[in-house]
Amino acid sequence: MEPRVRKLYEAMFALEDLREVFRESVPGRADENEIAAGVARVERILKDFKECKSSSLKYITNHIELRTREEEYININPIQPGGRLTPEARKALIAYGDGYSICDWCRDLRLDKIRRPPVDEFHAELAEFVGMDEVRVVPGARRGFQVVTSSLLNKGDIVLLSDLGHYTEYLAVEIAGGVVREIPSGESNIITGDAVADTIEQVRTTTGKKPKLVIVEHFDYSFGNEHDVRGVGKVAKEYEIPFLYNGAYSVGMMPVNGKDIGADFVVGSGHKGMAAVAPSGILATTEEWAPHVFRSSRIAGDITGKRFENKELELLGCTLMGGTLLSMMASFPRVKERVKHWQEEVEKSNYFIREFLRIQGNKVASEYPRKHTLSRVDTRNSFDKVARTHKRRGFFLSDELKSRGIIGEFAGSTRVWKLNTYGLSWDRIRYLADAFLDIARQYKLPVA
Ligand SMILES: *Cc1c(COP(=O)(O)O)cnc(C)c1O
Repeated sequence: MEPRVRKLYEAMFALEDLREVFRESVPGRADENEIAAGVARVERILKDFKECKSSSLKYITNHIELRTREEEYININPIQPGGRLTPEARKALIAYGDGYSICDWCRDLRLDKIRRPPVDEFHAELAEFVGMDEVRVVPGARRGFQVVTSSLLNKGDIVLLSDLGHYTEYLAVEIAGGVVREIPSGESNIITGDAVADTIEQVRTTTGKKPKLVIVEHFDYSFGNEHDVRGVGKVAKEYEIPFLYNGAYSVGMMPVNGKDIGADFVVGSGHKGMAAVAPSGILATTEEWAPHVFRSSRIAGDITGKRFENKELELLGCTLMGGTLLSMMASFPRVKERVKHWQEEVEKSNYFIREFLRIQGNKVASEYPRKHTLSRVDTRNSFDKVARTHKRRGFFLSDELKSRGIIGEFAGSTRVWKLNTYGLSWDRIRYLADAFLDIARQYKLPVA
């Protein structure tokens, strides 16, 4: 669609090839001819770029395609927008992509204590950012759940999860030998403190046991509904059960203060909410729990007597070692700023849904007005009616969207599906809404 995007990749790759000359030469003795040839190549590509010439570049290598959807399209994929990299993160990835790059200046043999680049400072700020005392980076929110379940549970221990819980929560309980009891979200698809209290009571009467942990997400992945995490925190405190606040869809997108919420653990996802490379995430906790979940290794070799007391057991020592961590750190200033504009993100989400609902038959399955940018929509009585007689079936909608530069909806689905407007400018939001109205009119669906 936009020939310059591929051309831009060509130029960037040519610069990488030029960079390689330095990586392979004896220091200070790079082959000047090779450099001149490399520069000339970059210049040729940029000249083509200026002239809007198309590019035949399709693969990076080995049939690994270029990825141009963020440049060429408006991407409404439900899980991707919060993890879209900032320019700073992309630069950090270029500079720190080498395997153990973070270890250049490691002195204490501990990731979170590295001072250059300032990983230690980042950890301190990150803990403050989510209103907790201590934080560690982990390979995804799921690994944060696992650290907690593995630290807290014995075989057969009960964990309360929302019935809208994410599969990774279930698996984190399973791998630690725990048992799941679900908290019903009811007709409204919203978890309340009362529902948690009722479930705790039920578990008590049926098993005689008290749950060991409560995990509830602030916004679930299915509807993007807001759950009463403060109410949950209050109930958890009353029953003295630790509460893990799952902020996969909130940390890095909206302001989160774990202690205000009453959380013992705050988990966030770097690649879902913090504009970071995957797999990345955070686990934050209180002074009270930190020594437990971040406890040190105590094992010793029987012959060598080797010990690793400096290493945190649940983290297997170090976690995010290069581009992942550096991308998260590089995005952090912008992430801290963007959470202040959450209300506007919600306004844009509501603007879009309001327009979307003008198409007769369209419904929103999520709570409405929206409190999040992730929404579940139901088009069974609108676009799906068209799909039933269209030769492309459900793909007609994807085709129409794609031809308007919109991508990321579940291709082929015209029934119940999800979209996310996070981070789209007002211009893009209006364009997106108009595109849906336009498609509706084209297929003679009534628009109010
Ligand atoms: C995406 C998601 C997760 C998993 O996050 P990762 O960082 O990929 O492990 C967990 N819980 C919820 C509610 C999610 O939406």
